[in-house]
Amino acid sequence: MFTTQGINETPVTAGKRRQLVNELRGKGIVSELVLQAIGKVPRQLFFPKDFEQFVYRDAAFPIGHGQTISQPYTVAFQTALLDLKPGSKVLEIGTGSGYQAAVLSACGAMVYTIETIKELLMESVKVLKILDNEIQCFHGDGSMGLSAFAPFDGIVVTAGAPEIPQTLVSQLVVGGKLVVPVGDKPDTQKMYRVTRINEKETKTEVFGDFKFVPLTGKEGWNGKN
Ligand code: SAM
Repeated sequence: MFTTQGINETPVTAGKRRQLVNELRGKGIVSELVLQAIGKVPRQLFFPKDFEQFVYRDAAFPIGHGQTISQPYTVAFQTALLDLKPGSKVLEIGTGSGYQAAVLSACGAMVYTIETIKELLMESVKVLKILDNEIQCFHGDGSMGLSAFAPFDGIVVTAGAPEIPQTLVSQLVVGGKLVVPVGDKPDTQKMYRVTRINEKETKTEVFGDFKFVPLTGKEGWNGKN
């Protein structure tokens, strides 16, 4: 279960986080569940040291290995599209810093997360275990999902895919939702939400423009080359 007990926090970081929540509300995020979760997660824990002044800006930031911690607005937008209920079982593809996994946990979800860069995963696991020791972290190609633990109520991909990864769709429960940025160029995408209606049918909705790092792996850009 998500907790911030034992985390040392200054009134400054807590205040900046409240401002960030208000900023996201102003940008159109309406899910109170998601806004409250963003309000609980100490983003400074997932940030490179010595860059404190950037922690609560609504912007992505480099975390090493050519990767980024996602912009809070993007994290909130994707999380809201999942329509989480308490106890929803969610798979995140692209753990990165671990921030979005923590936000999902703070929403009350049961979180599975997979990352392809081992060094990033090892760093994020250290922080995630403090906030919720039930989050399950895996190293591997998340474009193929996590069949051993499927099906999931929600799957969120935090890197840009060339097409909707069908293996991920097949790992949803009926009624489950896949949220994935898709674009035919590696650095610009539209946000897709695919809902599994029944065993054979899906409903696809397309939302605004985003910029993610590329999804590697077999059902990501590696499969296109
Ligand atoms: N959710 C992250 C956070 O909150 O910090 C942001 C992730 S960053 C924008 C995208 C991540 O996806 C990178 O860490 C990258 O290594 C990872 N990634 C890319 N392709 C992947 C794949 N096939 N399987 C697992 N992770 C992948």
